[in-house]
Amino acid sequence: MDTIYLDHNATTPTDPLVVKKMLPFFSEEFGNPSSIHAKGQTAKDAIEVARREMAELIGADPSEIIFTSGGTEADNIAIRGVFSKLAPKKNHLIITTIEHPAVLQTAEYLEKHHGAEVTYLDVDSTGRINLKELESSITEKTALVSIMTANNEVGTIQPMEEIGEICKEKGVLLHTDAVQAVGKIPFDVNKYNISLAAFSAHKFYGPKGVGALYVRKGVRLDSQTTGGGQERKIRPGTLNTPGIVGMGEASRLAKENLSAHTKHITELRDYFKKRITEEISDVIFHGDSEHQLPQVASIGFSYIEGEGILMFLDMDGNIQASSGSACTAGDLHASHVLLAMGISHEAANGTIRFSFGKDNTKEQVDKVMEVLPPIVERLRKMSPLAPKENK
Ligand code: PLP
Repeated sequence: MDTIYLDHNATTPTDPLVVKKMLPFFSEEFGNPSSIHAKGQTAKDAIEVARREMAELIGADPSEIIFTSGGTEADNIAIRGVFSKLAPKKNHLIITTIEHPAVLQTAEYLEKHHGAEVTYLDVDSTGRINLKELESSITEKTALVSIMTANNEVGTIQPMEEIGEICKEKGVLLHTDAVQAVGKIPFDVNKYNISLAAFSAHKFYGPKGVGALYVRKGVRLDSQTTGGGQERKIRPGTLNTPGIVGMGEASRLAKENLSAHTKHITELRDYFKKRITEEISDVIFHGDSEHQLPQVASIGFSYIEGEGILMFLDMDGNIQASSGSACTAGDLHASHVLLAMGISHEAANGTIRFSFGKDNTKEQVDKVMEVLPPIVERLRKMSPLAPKENK
Protein backbone atom coordinates (compact mmCIF):
# COMPACT_ATOMS: atom_id res chain seq x y z
CA MET A 1 0.00 0.00 0.00
CA ASP A 2 1.45 3.34 -1.02
CA THR A 3 2.06 5.90 1.66
CA ILE A 4 -0.25 8.91 1.72
CA TYR A 5 1.82 11.64 3.30
CA LEU A 6 -0.25 14.49 4.71
CA ASP A 7 2.28 15.92 7.15
CA HIS A 8 4.06 18.54 5.06
CA ASN A 9 4.17 21.06 7.91
CA ALA A 10 6.41 18.64 9.80
CA THR A 11 8.71 18.31 6.81
CA THR A 12 8.63 17.94 3.02
CA PRO A 13 10.50 15.49 0.82
CA THR A 14 13.58 17.03 -0.78
CA ASP A 15 12.77 17.76 -4.43
CA PRO A 16 14.80 15.52 -6.80
CA LEU A 17 15.94 18.67 -8.67
CA VAL A 18 17.28 20.00 -5.36
CA VAL A 19 19.12 16.74 -4.62
CA LYS A 20 20.65 16.84 -8.11
CA LYS A 21 22.01 20.34 -7.52
CA MET A 22 23.41 19.35 -4.11
CA LEU A 23 25.19 16.11 -5.07
CA PRO A 24 28.39 17.51 -6.64
CA PHE A 25 29.03 19.54 -3.50
CA PHE A 26 29.42 16.41 -1.38
CA SER A 27 32.12 14.91 -3.58
CA GLU A 28 33.98 16.64 -6.42
CA GLU A 29 33.21 20.21 -5.26
CA PHE A 30 34.02 19.63 -1.60
CA GLY A 31 36.07 22.79 -1.07
CA ASN A 32 35.70 25.00 1.98
CA PRO A 33 34.05 28.22 0.78
CA SER A 34 36.44 30.18 3.03
CA SER A 35 39.52 28.85 1.17
CA ILE A 36 40.97 31.23 -1.36
CA HIS A 37 42.08 28.54 -3.83
CA ALA A 38 39.98 27.51 -6.83
CA LYS A 39 38.19 24.64 -5.05
CA GLY A 40 37.16 26.98 -2.27
CA GLN A 41 36.04 29.65 -4.70
CA THR A 42 33.82 27.19 -6.61
CA ALA A 43 32.01 26.43 -3.35
CA LYS A 44 31.83 30.12 -2.47
CA ASP A 45 30.38 30.99 -5.88
CA ALA A 46 27.69 28.32 -5.43
CA ILE A 47 26.83 29.74 -2.02
CA GLU A 48 26.49 33.24 -3.45
CA VAL A 49 24.11 31.93 -6.13
CA ALA A 50 22.02 30.32 -3.35
CA ARG A 51 22.09 33.57 -1.36
CA ARG A 52 20.69 35.44 -4.37
CA GLU A 53 17.99 32.81 -4.88
CA MET A 54 16.94 32.92 -1.23
CA ALA A 55 16.94 36.74 -1.31
CA GLU A 56 14.81 36.82 -4.45
CA LEU A 57 12.17 34.60 -2.86
CA ILE A 58 11.59 37.11 -0.04
CA GLY A 59 12.33 40.44 -1.77
CA ALA A 60 15.63 41.00 0.08
CA ASP A 61 19.13 41.99 -0.91
CA PRO A 62 21.55 39.01 -0.94
CA SER A 63 23.79 40.78 1.58
CA GLU A 64 20.91 40.56 4.09
CA ILE A 65 20.85 36.73 4.12
CA ILE A 66 22.70 34.77 6.83
CA PHE A 67 22.71 30.99 6.38
CA THR A 68 22.01 28.95 9.52
CA SER A 69 21.39 25.33 10.51
CA GLY A 70 17.61 25.81 10.31
CA GLY A 71 14.63 27.77 11.54
CA THR A 72 15.33 27.15 15.22
CA GLU A 73 18.81 28.62 15.02
CA ALA A 74 17.62 31.59 12.96
CA ASP A 75 14.90 32.40 15.53
CA ASN A 76 17.41 32.08 18.37
CA ILE A 77 20.03 34.31 16.74
CA ALA A 78 17.41 36.97 15.96
CA ILE A 79 15.82 37.14 19.41
CA ARG A 80 18.90 36.57 21.57
CA GLY A 81 21.07 38.69 19.29
CA VAL A 82 18.82 41.77 19.37
CA PHE A 83 18.08 41.36 23.08
CA SER A 84 21.77 41.09 23.92
CA LYS A 85 22.53 44.19 21.84
CA LEU A 86 19.76 46.37 23.31
CA ALA A 87 19.28 45.18 26.93
CA PRO A 88 19.25 46.34 29.68
CA LYS A 89 18.19 49.71 28.24
CA LYS A 90 15.56 47.97 26.13
CA ASN A 91 14.67 44.67 27.79
CA HIS A 92 11.06 44.25 26.65
CA LEU A 93 10.04 41.58 24.14
CA ILE A 94 6.62 41.11 22.58
CA ILE A 95 5.67 37.72 21.17
CA THR A 96 2.38 35.81 20.76
CA THR A 97 1.07 32.89 22.81
CA ILE A 98 1.02 30.67 19.70
CA GLU A 99 4.66 30.91 18.62
CA HIS A 100 6.70 27.82 17.80
CA PRO A 101 8.87 26.69 20.76
CA ALA A 102 11.91 28.11 18.92
CA VAL A 103 10.52 31.57 19.73
CA LEU A 104 8.37 30.85 22.78
CA GLN A 105 11.05 29.05 24.76
CA THR A 106 13.74 31.53 23.74
CA ALA A 107 11.66 34.40 25.13
CA GLU A 108 10.85 32.38 28.25
CA TYR A 109 14.55 31.65 28.75
CA LEU A 110 15.50 35.32 28.44
CA GLU A 111 12.70 36.18 30.87
CA LYS A 112 13.84 33.60 33.42
CA HIS A 113 17.60 34.09 33.19
CA HIS A 114 18.39 37.48 31.67
CA GLY A 115 15.83 39.93 33.02
CA ALA A 116 13.68 40.19 29.90
CA GLU A 117 10.15 41.44 30.32
CA VAL A 118 7.94 39.56 27.93
CA THR A 119 4.44 40.45 26.75
CA TYR A 120 2.60 37.42 25.39
CA LEU A 121 -0.09 38.67 23.00
CA ASP A 122 -3.33 36.68 23.11
CA VAL A 123 -5.03 35.47 19.97
CA ASP A 124 -8.74 35.20 19.12
CA SER A 125 -10.56 31.93 18.42
CA THR A 126 -9.14 31.87 14.87
CA GLY A 127 -5.55 32.41 16.03
CA ARG A 128 -5.14 36.07 15.03
CA ILE A 129 -3.68 38.76 17.26
CA ASN A 130 -5.41 42.02 18.15
CA LEU A 131 -3.59 44.91 16.47
CA LYS A 132 -4.71 47.42 19.11
CA GLU A 133 -3.25 45.19 21.81
CA LEU A 134 0.04 45.05 19.92
CA GLU A 135 0.09 48.82 19.54
CA SER A 136 -0.62 49.49 23.21
CA SER A 137 1.94 46.91 24.37
CA ILE A 138 4.88 48.68 22.70
CA THR A 139 6.83 50.87 25.12
CA GLU A 140 10.11 52.78 25.11
CA LYS A 141 11.70 49.65 26.54
CA THR A 142 10.58 47.38 23.68
CA ALA A 143 13.60 45.82 21.99
CA LEU A 144 11.80 43.49 19.62
CA VAL A 145 8.38 42.35 18.44
CA SER A 146 8.38 38.73 17.24
CA ILE A 147 5.22 37.48 15.54
CA MET A 148 5.06 34.41 13.34
CA THR A 149 3.80 35.02 9.80
CA ALA A 150 1.76 31.82 9.82
CA ASN A 151 1.17 29.22 12.48
CA ASN A 152 2.48 25.68 12.00
CA GLU A 153 -0.45 23.92 13.71
CA VAL A 154 -3.56 25.70 12.46
CA GLY A 155 -2.12 27.65 9.54
CA THR A 156 -3.49 31.04 10.63
CA ILE A 157 -1.79 33.92 8.81
CA GLN A 158 -1.24 37.13 10.80
CA PRO A 159 -1.96 40.60 9.33
CA MET A 160 1.74 41.17 8.66
CA GLU A 161 1.33 44.36 6.67
CA GLU A 162 -0.53 46.08 9.53
CA ILE A 163 1.87 44.64 12.11
CA GLY A 164 4.79 45.98 10.08
CA GLU A 165 3.20 49.43 9.89
CA ILE A 166 2.65 49.58 13.65
CA CYS A 167 6.26 48.55 14.35
CA LYS A 168 7.60 51.06 11.83
CA GLU A 169 5.52 53.88 13.29
CA LYS A 170 6.62 53.03 16.81
CA GLY A 171 10.24 52.57 15.73
CA VAL A 172 10.67 49.01 17.01
CA LEU A 173 12.30 46.06 15.31
CA LEU A 174 10.03 43.33 13.94
CA HIS A 175 11.15 39.71 13.71
CA THR A 176 8.94 37.11 12.09
CA ASP A 177 9.18 33.33 12.11
CA ALA A 178 8.29 32.76 8.46
CA VAL A 179 9.27 29.09 8.48
CA GLN A 180 5.81 27.80 7.51
CA ALA A 181 4.82 30.69 5.28
CA VAL A 182 7.60 31.00 2.76
CA GLY A 183 7.10 28.97 -0.39
CA LYS A 184 3.38 28.61 0.44
CA ILE A 185 2.18 32.24 0.31
CA PRO A 186 3.76 35.40 -1.14
CA PHE A 187 6.19 36.88 1.37
CA ASP A 188 8.04 40.17 1.07
CA VAL A 189 10.29 41.69 3.74
CA ASN A 190 9.73 45.23 2.46
CA LYS A 191 5.96 45.01 2.16
CA TYR A 192 5.83 43.91 5.81
CA ASN A 193 8.56 46.27 7.13
CA ILE A 194 10.40 43.32 8.54
CA SER A 195 13.75 43.73 10.28
CA LEU A 196 14.52 40.04 10.84
CA ALA A 197 12.96 36.81 9.60
CA ALA A 198 13.61 33.08 10.01
CA PHE A 199 13.37 30.41 7.29
CA SER A 200 13.95 26.66 7.04
CA ALA A 201 14.69 24.79 3.80
CA HIS A 202 13.07 21.48 4.74
CA LYS A 203 9.62 23.09 4.90
CA PHE A 204 9.71 23.94 1.19
CA TYR A 205 11.26 20.87 -0.49
CA GLY A 206 14.84 21.68 0.48
CA PRO A 207 17.14 19.62 2.73
CA LYS A 208 16.98 19.39 6.52
CA GLY A 209 19.51 21.12 8.74
CA VAL A 210 19.79 24.34 6.75
CA GLY A 211 17.95 27.63 7.12
CA ALA A 212 18.40 31.35 6.83
CA LEU A 213 18.03 34.50 8.83
CA TYR A 214 17.12 37.73 7.07
CA VAL A 215 18.73 40.75 8.75
CA ARG A 216 17.75 44.11 7.28
CA LYS A 217 20.69 46.39 6.44
CA GLY A 218 21.52 48.53 9.46
CA VAL A 219 19.92 46.21 12.04
CA ARG A 220 22.52 45.37 14.67
CA LEU A 221 22.63 42.23 16.75
CA ASP A 222 25.21 40.42 18.87
CA SER A 223 26.50 37.11 17.62
CA GLN A 224 25.51 34.20 19.84
CA THR A 225 28.44 32.01 18.77
CA THR A 226 32.13 32.82 18.69
CA GLY A 227 34.37 31.45 15.97
CA GLY A 228 35.50 32.40 12.49
CA GLY A 229 34.28 35.29 10.42
CA GLN A 230 31.71 33.44 8.31
CA GLU A 231 28.30 34.99 7.67
CA ARG A 232 29.42 38.40 8.92
CA LYS A 233 30.34 36.76 12.24
CA ILE A 234 26.61 36.50 12.99
CA ARG A 235 26.79 32.77 12.33
CA PRO A 236 30.40 31.63 12.37
CA GLY A 237 31.37 28.09 11.36
CA THR A 238 32.20 26.35 8.10
CA LEU A 239 29.24 26.68 5.78
CA ASN A 240 27.12 23.67 4.85
CA THR A 241 27.73 24.03 1.10
CA PRO A 242 25.51 21.16 -0.15
CA GLY A 243 22.67 22.20 2.17
CA ILE A 244 22.89 25.86 1.20
CA VAL A 245 23.03 25.01 -2.51
CA GLY A 246 19.91 22.90 -1.91
CA MET A 247 18.17 25.74 -0.10
CA GLY A 248 18.96 28.07 -3.00
CA GLU A 249 17.51 25.68 -5.56
CA ALA A 250 14.45 25.04 -3.36
CA SER A 251 13.94 28.83 -3.15
CA ARG A 252 14.20 29.21 -6.92
CA LEU A 253 11.67 26.42 -7.46
CA ALA A 254 9.36 27.79 -4.76
CA LYS A 255 9.27 31.18 -6.46
CA GLU A 256 8.74 29.68 -9.91
CA ASN A 257 5.94 27.32 -8.81
CA LEU A 258 4.23 29.31 -6.06
CA SER A 259 0.95 30.08 -7.78
CA ALA A 260 0.57 26.66 -9.45
CA HIS A 261 1.32 24.77 -6.21
CA THR A 262 -0.92 27.03 -4.15
CA LYS A 263 -3.82 26.49 -6.53
CA HIS A 264 -3.38 22.70 -6.54
CA ILE A 265 -2.95 22.42 -2.78
CA THR A 266 -5.87 24.73 -1.97
CA GLU A 267 -8.16 22.71 -4.24
CA LEU A 268 -7.15 19.44 -2.58
CA ARG A 269 -7.49 20.83 0.93
CA ASP A 270 -10.91 22.33 0.19
CA TYR A 271 -12.14 19.12 -1.46
CA PHE A 272 -11.00 17.20 1.63
CA LYS A 273 -12.78 19.61 3.99
CA LYS A 274 -15.97 19.43 1.92
CA ARG A 275 -16.01 15.64 2.04
CA ILE A 276 -15.32 15.65 5.80
CA THR A 277 -18.20 18.08 6.36
CA GLU A 278 -20.53 15.86 4.33
CA GLU A 279 -19.44 12.50 5.70
CA ILE A 280 -18.41 12.94 9.35
CA SER A 281 -20.55 14.53 12.05
CA ASP A 282 -19.34 16.69 14.94
CA VAL A 283 -16.16 18.09 13.44
CA ILE A 284 -14.68 21.57 13.76
CA PHE A 285 -12.19 23.21 11.44
CA HIS A 286 -9.71 25.23 13.45
CA GLY A 287 -8.08 28.44 12.30
CA ASP A 288 -9.15 31.33 10.15
CA SER A 289 -10.55 30.01 6.86
CA GLU A 290 -10.01 33.42 5.24
CA HIS A 291 -6.42 33.84 6.39
CA GLN A 292 -5.02 30.33 6.35
CA LEU A 293 -2.04 28.62 4.75
CA PRO A 294 -3.32 26.75 1.68
CA GLN A 295 -1.93 23.41 2.80
CA VAL A 296 -3.42 23.15 6.28
CA ALA A 297 -6.60 21.50 7.55
CA SER A 298 -6.65 21.35 11.34
CA ILE A 299 -9.68 19.30 12.26
CA GLY A 300 -11.19 18.56 15.66
CA PHE A 301 -13.12 15.27 15.89
CA SER A 302 -15.39 15.47 18.93
CA TYR A 303 -15.42 12.75 21.63
CA ILE A 304 -12.21 10.96 20.58
CA GLU A 305 -8.43 11.20 20.91
CA GLY A 306 -6.29 12.38 18.00
CA GLU A 307 -3.59 9.84 18.86
CA GLY A 308 -6.06 6.98 18.23
CA ILE A 309 -7.08 8.40 14.87
CA LEU A 310 -3.43 8.83 13.86
CA MET A 311 -2.57 5.26 14.82
CA PHE A 312 -5.44 3.74 12.82
CA LEU A 313 -4.80 6.04 9.84
CA ASP A 314 -1.23 4.75 9.75
CA MET A 315 -2.20 1.09 10.30
CA ASP A 316 -5.31 0.89 8.10
CA GLY A 317 -4.38 3.26 5.30
CA ASN A 318 -0.65 3.98 5.51
CA ILE A 319 -1.73 7.61 5.93
CA GLN A 320 0.54 9.98 7.81
CA ALA A 321 -0.71 13.11 9.52
CA SER A 322 0.01 14.75 12.83
CA SER A 323 -1.57 15.75 16.10
CA GLY A 324 -0.29 19.23 16.83
CA SER A 325 3.26 20.12 15.86
CA ALA A 326 5.93 17.51 15.17
CA CYS A 327 8.09 18.81 17.99
CA THR A 328 5.37 18.10 20.53
CA ALA A 329 3.93 14.94 18.99
CA GLY A 330 4.33 11.99 21.34
CA ASP A 331 3.89 14.40 24.23
CA LEU A 332 0.31 14.08 25.35
CA HIS A 333 -0.13 17.66 26.55
CA ALA A 334 -2.83 19.47 24.61
CA SER A 335 -1.50 21.86 21.98
CA HIS A 336 -0.63 25.28 23.44
CA VAL A 337 -1.84 26.84 20.18
CA LEU A 338 -5.33 25.36 20.36
CA LEU A 339 -5.61 26.15 24.07
CA ALA A 340 -4.58 29.77 23.38
CA MET A 341 -7.38 29.94 20.80
CA GLY A 342 -9.85 29.03 23.54
CA ILE A 343 -10.39 25.44 22.40
CA SER A 344 -11.08 23.05 25.31
CA HIS A 345 -8.53 20.38 26.34
CA GLU A 346 -10.90 17.68 25.11
CA ALA A 347 -11.40 19.27 21.69
CA ALA A 348 -7.68 20.00 21.38
CA ASN A 349 -6.84 16.36 22.11
CA GLY A 350 -9.20 15.24 19.35
CA THR A 351 -7.50 17.37 16.72
CA ILE A 352 -5.52 16.20 13.72
CA ARG A 353 -3.42 18.42 11.47
CA PHE A 354 -3.46 17.35 7.84
CA SER A 355 -0.96 19.30 5.76
CA PHE A 356 -0.94 18.84 2.00
CA GLY A 357 1.96 19.05 -0.45
CA LYS A 358 2.54 19.54 -4.15
CA ASP A 359 2.64 15.81 -4.91
CA ASN A 360 -0.63 14.85 -3.21
CA THR A 361 -3.53 13.92 -5.49
CA LYS A 362 -7.33 13.90 -5.42
CA GLU A 363 -7.19 10.08 -5.58
CA GLN A 364 -5.22 10.13 -2.32
CA VAL A 365 -7.88 12.28 -0.68
CA ASP A 366 -10.51 9.79 -1.88
CA LYS A 367 -8.48 6.96 -0.30
CA VAL A 368 -8.28 8.87 2.99
CA MET A 369 -12.04 9.32 2.89
CA GLU A 370 -12.50 5.54 2.50
CA VAL A 371 -10.53 4.96 5.70
CA LEU A 372 -11.17 7.96 7.96
CA PRO A 373 -14.97 7.89 8.53
CA PRO A 374 -14.97 4.22 9.71
CA ILE A 375 -12.03 4.98 12.05
CA VAL A 376 -13.89 7.90 13.62
CA GLU A 377 -17.04 5.77 13.94
CA ARG A 378 -15.13 2.89 15.56
CA LEU A 379 -13.39 5.17 18.07
CA ARG A 380 -16.62 6.96 18.94
CA LYS A 381 -18.31 3.61 19.60
CA MET A 382 -15.66 2.98 22.27
CA SER A 383 -15.66 6.51 23.66
CA PRO A 384 -17.43 7.18 26.97
CA LEU A 385 -17.75 10.82 25.86
CA ALA A 386 -19.76 10.22 22.71
CA PRO A 387 -23.56 10.63 22.86
CA LYS A 388 -25.67 7.59 21.90
CA GLU A 389 -26.43 8.79 18.36
CA ASN A 390 -22.67 8.79 17.63
CA LYS A 391 -22.22 5.19 18.80
N1 PLP B 1 9.27 27.69 13.36
C1 PLP B 1 8.18 27.06 12.89
C2 PLP B 1 6.90 27.82 12.73
C3 PLP B 1 8.24 25.70 12.58
O1 PLP B 1 7.15 25.09 12.13
C4 PLP B 1 9.47 25.01 12.74
C5 PLP B 1 9.57 23.56 12.47
O2 PLP B 1 8.68 22.79 12.76
C6 PLP B 1 10.59 25.73 13.21
C7 PLP B 1 10.45 27.07 13.50
C8 PLP B 1 11.91 25.07 13.39
O3 PLP B 1 12.58 24.92 12.17
P1 PLP B 1 13.77 23.87 12.03
O4 PLP B 1 13.15 22.52 12.00
O5 PLP B 1 14.43 24.21 10.73
O6 PLP B 1 14.68 24.09 13.18
